[in-house]
Amino acid sequence: MDRSQNFTKIPLTPQMQRQKTEWRQGRRKFISASRRETRRVDALRPTIVVHGGAWDIPDEVVDDHLNGVKLAAETGMAALLRAGSALDAVEAAINIMEENGVFNAGRGSHLNAEGEVEMDAIIMDGETLNAGSVAALTNILHPISLARKVMEETSHVLLVGEGARKFAAAHGFRLTPTEELLSARELKRYRELRRRKVRPREFYDPSPPDTVGAVALDSHGNLAAGTSTGGQPKKLPGRVGDSPLIGAGAYADNSLGACSATGWGESIMKTVLSKAACDFMGEGSTAQSACRKAIRVLKRKVDGRGGLIVIDRRGRHGVAYNTPRMAWAFMAAGMRLPRASV
Ligand code: ASP
Repeated sequence: MDRSQNFTKIPLTPQMQRQKTEWRQGRRKFISASRRETRRVDALRPTIVVHGGAWDIPDEVVDDHLNGVKLAAETGMAALLRAGSALDAVEAAINIMEENGVFNAGRGSHLNAEGEVEMDAIIMDGETLNAGSVAALTNILHPISLARKVMEETSHVLLVGEGARKFAAAHGFRLTPTEELLSARELKRYRELRRRKVRPREFYDPSPPDTVGAVALDSHGNLAAGTSTGGQPKKLPGRVGDSPLIGAGAYADNSLGACSATGWGESIMKTVLSKAACDFMGEGSTAQSACRKAIRVLKRKVDGRGGLIVIDRRGRHGVAYNTPRMAWAFMAAGMRLPRASV
């Protein structure tokens, strides 16, 4: 039996018809508004990725590295959740790693061939493409904060050596004695390299350089990137690596993405690696495949070694390296704990 024959269709009055149409239109509007909202919220979900250097991190210090990058991601996320900018988050995350002593940045930096600590750092704002950096800098615990001062207080991009140190002193940075930047690990390494008479150019073995970096997306959709390092062990005095150079050690552009690099600086410079990864994202690659492509370019063109972290403009992240290990951590708003790996 056809059961539908038991139901009589009640004709709608014009008023009921109007109400039905209004309800349908309203529902359609509501659905598309909430889809838009979902997309907007997704796009602006504050996110941070940090790294603690790409190289062969020995087993016995893996936990220190993991804890260090997790703490940095949490610190950066706390800044983002306090309505800080992506720049604030990058600076805060890197500051905590510069203080840690485990990483090759700030306290714990490698010593150069003359037993001095010379550091490089960069910070870049993806909204304006403004950047500040410092190179061959001595006696400052937080090179990343000084780089930010250069960006915000001068019309320059890069200050080096004694000029950078004077600028720091003039802007209230404490001049930290070299001994306070030394770690027992680095002193031991320095003595060992001197004893073995290793020349800087030969020093290309899988020991851990441990440079630090961060990329972040804030709730306004702005991206930032930063990198801070003590460079390579036993480098020639005055040697500047990739880290403080725009496009090499870091890059951020709201229309492309943000990237921080680590690894063998000379190879990263030659391939302008951070910009290359951002360009891949701009051409439509996902964050993860952009990282992988850039690392393939590094290897193919100059037989380079290194690692990258990136965030694209929608907050999706990518990580790639061709060294035995890289310490990194990722955290997005809403996550209770960061995800980290070495
Ligand atoms: N890229 C840095 C440099 O060559 C070192 C590193 O990232 O570990 O100075």
